[in-house]
Amino acid sequence: MPNSRIVLITGASRGIGRAIALRFAAEGDTVVVNYRANHAAAEDTLQRCRLTSPESIAYAADVSDPAEAAQLVQAVLNRFGRIDVLVNNAGISLQKQVQDTTDADWQKVVNVNLGAAFYVTKAALPAMIARKSGKIVNISSMWGLTGASCEAAYSAAKAGLIGWTKALAKEVGPSGIHVNCVAPGLIDTEMNANLSDADKCAVIDETPLCRIGTPQDVADAVLFFSSPQASFITGEVLRVDGGLTV
Ligand code: NAP
Repeated sequence: MPNSRIVLITGASRGIGRAIALRFAAEGDTVVVNYRANHAAAEDTLQRCRLTSPESIAYAADVSDPAEAAQLVQAVLNRFGRIDVLVNNAGISLQKQVQDTTDADWQKVVNVNLGAAFYVTKAALPAMIARKSGKIVNISSMWGLTGASCEAAYSAAKAGLIGWTKALAKEVGPSGIHVNCVAPGLIDTEMNANLSDADKCAVIDETPLCRIGTPQDVADAVLFFSSPQASFITGEVLRVDGGLTV
C-alpha cells in the first residue's frame, strides 16, 4: 500500500498493544505484532490486522532479553528494510509491598517495563538515524507520574520510562526522530483482571470523565504521536486517564 508505515509494537498480542496494532492496521500501516508467549492471542491479533494490512506479521520475542530484542529488530529490518514507528508497550505489573518485593521481582519488573524499551530502541536506532526519520512512543503509566502504593517497583520503572523519553528526545531530535510517551490511567485489560467491580467503581468515582479507559483510548494517543499532526512535539508525556491525575 502506498505510504504504508512499518510499525513495530512490543506486547501486541493482547490488551493495549493489540488495540494499537489494530489502529495502525486500520490506517493501512504494516504492523509487527511482538509478543512473549501467548501464540493464540498473537495469531488472533495478526489475523484481525491482516484484514486491512495483509503484510503484517507476528514475532515472538522476550523483549526484556537484550539478545531477543535485537533479533526482533533485525528480523523486522531484514523483512521490511526499515522501522517507521516503534511502540514500546510490553509491560507487566506487580502488586506487593516493598518489604515483600524480592530482588528477582524488582529486576523483572524494571527489566520488562524499562529495560525492554532500552534494548529494542537501541537496536532500532541506527536504522532510524541513517534515514533521519522515526517515531518512538513509550507506554508509561499514571503511576509513573504519581506513584502507587504497593506498586513501587512498577511506579519506579514507569517513572524511569518518562525520564528516558525526555532524555532520548533531546539526544535524537537532531536526527529527525521523535520520542514521546503515553501515560494511561486505569485501562480495561487483563492486567487489571485482579480488580473487583468495587475497586473499579472506586476509580470511576475519582475520575472526572466517570469511566475507566479502553485500550482504544490509548491507541488513539499513540496514533496521534505518530502522525504529521505531532511533527513539532517530542519529549512529551500525554496522560490518557480521564482526568484522574490532574
Ligand atoms: P496486558 O493485557 O497484560 O498485555 C501485556 C502484553 O505485553 C501482552 O501482549 C504480553 O505478551 C506482552 N509482554 C509481557 N511481557 C513481555 C515480554 N517480556 N516480551 C514481549 N512481550 C511481553 O497489559 P496491558 O494492560 O495491555 O498493558 C500494556 C502496557 O500498558 C504495559 O506497559 C502497561 O504497563 C501499560 N499500562 C497499562 C495500564 C492498564 O490499566 N491496563 C495502565 C497504564 C499503563 P503475551 O500475550 O505473550 O504474554
